[in-house]
Amino acid sequence: MSDLEQTAVKRIRLAAKMSQQYYQEPLLICNSGGKDSLVLLAIAKAAGIKYEMVHSHTTADAPETVRYVRRQIYELECAGIKTEIHYPVYKGKRTSMWALIPQKLMPPTRFARYCCKILKETTENHRYIATGVRASESKGRADSAEFETRTSRKADKGRFSYEHTAEVFSEAQTLPDVYDCQLITACKKHKQVSVLPIVDWTDEDIWNYIRSERLKYNPLYDYGYAFDRVGCIGCPLASRKKRLAEFAKHPAYKNMYIRAFDRCIARRKALGKHGVTDNKDWSTGAKMFDWWMEDKNLEGQVAFEGVKSEGSGLQN
Ligand code: SF4
Repeated sequence: MSDLEQTAVKRIRLAAKMSQQYYQEPLLICNSGGKDSLVLLAIAKAAGIKYEMVHSHTTADAPETVRYVRRQIYELECAGIKTEIHYPVYKGKRTSMWALIPQKLMPPTRFARYCCKILKETTENHRYIATGVRASESKGRADSAEFETRTSRKADKGRFSYEHTAEVFSEAQTLPDVYDCQLITACKKHKQVSVLPIVDWTDEDIWNYIRSERLKYNPLYDYGYAFDRVGCIGCPLASRKKRLAEFAKHPAYKNMYIRAFDRCIARRKALGKHGVTDNKDWSTGAKMFDWWMEDKNLEGQVAFEGVKSEGSGLQN
């Protein structure tokens, strides 16, 4: 086992113990269908821990990803691992990217990223989770730590090293009423706590591990440049070049966006909110799509690749 793998195993084992101790539930592994989640699942297997897997069905994922995750679920269930798919819900009803766009009265953009909150960030608040987040992915993730508590205010997020976590966990067992820290308090209150076992891995580390362990990765990665990251088709955080390549491969998604934009415009008109569009040509769904695809619509809605962007919703 390499040093990297050993360290990741150590982290995930500690998290699994804490999850059982405080939540009386196995560690929950978040699987997006991307390469980081794949490595995370392999690390959990290598660690020999008890875990469960959850996948958020965004409704805008590529068909390849949906089929790939389905296959993973089948294999995990055959191995006795509990799996769950979260279907998005908005205002108490099942929803999708295509239903949300008219409801929100505008397309999702880099700065109006309502879709991530509703379609992707669906994991329960009362579980200890493991994610494949890596610090090298983006500027927004650069300060990620091995263990984190999740709060609605980003500024309040607690970040903890393995050493600190191991120490307070051990102390809290022997001095439960005396010794405490933000992390243990969060666990005791069943708040969402996460472990990031591969937080310090690079892209190269990930691919080396996938190759050395002969892991079956999402076939989308074999489609080249535009599919170096797996996520929603047409995600506004990606570059125009990448999005054009995605829509060229998946033209049905372009049509679904255009139809959703048509419904969005109709709803805006019905509510009397279509008057001012800041010189944007939103006369038809197709025009709205063209606007949406332009790099310069909004400051920052430019190339993702090579840009250290804040809070990417793309998945590796
Ligand atoms: S990954 Fe992109 S398109 Fe998908 S939900 Fe997040 S912001 Fe929206």
